[in-house]
Amino acid sequence: MQVPEEIVHAAGLIPVVIWRGNEAVTWGHSHIPPYYCGIVRSFIDDAVRGKLGFMDGMIFHVRQCLLIMDIPLIIERHVKPEYMKLLYLPPVYPGEATRDFLISDLELFKKSLEEYTGNTITDDMLKSSIAVYNENRSLLERLYEIRRKKPQILTSAEVMKIVWAGMLMQKEDHNELLKELLPLMEAMTIEPTTKIKVIPIGCLCQIPPFDVLNMIEDLGMVIPDDDLYVGSRYFANKVNMNDNPIEALAERHLKKTPVCPTKGVWDVLWADDVEEMVKLNNASGVISIHVKFCPPHACYYPDFKSRMIEKGIPEILVQVEHEMLSMEGIKTRLQSFTESLGGE
Ligand code: SF4
Repeated sequence: MQVPEEIVHAAGLIPVVIWRGNEAVTWGHSHIPPYYCGIVRSFIDDAVRGKLGFMDGMIFHVRQCLLIMDIPLIIERHVKPEYMKLLYLPPVYPGEATRDFLISDLELFKKSLEEYTGNTITDDMLKSSIAVYNENRSLLERLYEIRRKKPQILTSAEVMKIVWAGMLMQKEDHNELLKELLPLMEAMTIEPTTKIKVIPIGCLCQIPPFDVLNMIEDLGMVIPDDDLYVGSRYFANKVNMNDNPIEALAERHLKKTPVCPTKGVWDVLWADDVEEMVKLNNASGVISIHVKFCPPHACYYPDFKSRMIEKGIPEILVQVEHEMLSMEGIKTRLQSFTESLGGE
C-alpha cells in the first residue's frame, strides 16, 4: 500500500496490489511466527509455496508497518522476482526534511524502474499517468456520492469489489467500466432507507472479510460510507498537478487525512476524521474492524476508542483473523451493537 502506482504505470508496467490468499497457512509457519498478522503470514505462505512467481517485480513500502519489513528477505530467497524495490516512504512528520527525503526516495524509485525497463520516464509520461489515476479517483468519488444518497443500491461487499478490481486491473479499463456503471446507478430510483447507518473503519491494508460486511447488513444495518483501505482511503486525495510530478506525488503522500495509523500521523486525530464522516452520512455508529496482530491499528485504537466515548459516538470493535474467524462471536457482538442503536 501507499506505493505511488503512477510511477510504475508511467514506466509501462501494470501495478497490482498484492493480496493475501484464501487458503490456510501451511509452509509459511516455518518462516513467520504465529503472532504476525494473518495478511503477512498468508503472503509469506503463498511466496514459499511458489504462488507468486507470475509477477515480474515486487515493490514493498517497508515502513508501512513493522511486520512488512520481514517480507522482502523471504521474497528474495523464494520468489526471486526480476525486479525488487524497497521504498522507505517516511512517516508524515511536519518539516522540510521529511519532504526532501520522500522526494529523493521517489526519484530513486523512478530511476530504478528506468534501469529495469530500459525506458526513460519523462515528466510528460508521469503527468499522463497521474491524469489516469486522478480520473479513477474522481470516478470512485462519484460512486461513493451515489452510495451516500442511495446506500442500498449496492451491498458493501459489492462496493469493495469495485474498488478492489481497480487495484488489480489496468486503470484505463477500470475507468471505462466505471463510466458505464455510474450513469446506470445515477438513473436508478431507490426508496430512502430507514435502516440504521453505520461506518466500518480499519482493516488498514486489506479488504475486510465479506462475511463480516454481509453480516452487518443482514442484521439490519446499512453502510453508506467507509474508512477502509479497500474503500474511501484508496482513492482519497487527487494528485495536485504541478510542474514537477514527483513533487506532486510526494505532496499527496504527505496529506494527513484520511488519517491512517500506518503513516504515523498524530497531530490530526483519527477520531476527528471519523466524526466528520459520521456527521456527513448521518450515521448512528462506527464498527472498527481490527486485523488480529496489526500493531499500527492496535497502537491507535485506545486513543480512538476513548475519543469516540468523549464524542458520544457509539463504536464497537470486531477482530478478524486470516484463519479461525469466529463468526458466531462476531455475530453476537454485532447483534448487541444493533440493539444498542435501536435496531431489532
Ligand atoms: S494488517 Fe497491519 S500489521 Fe499486518 S500488514 Fe497490514 S498494516 Fe501491517
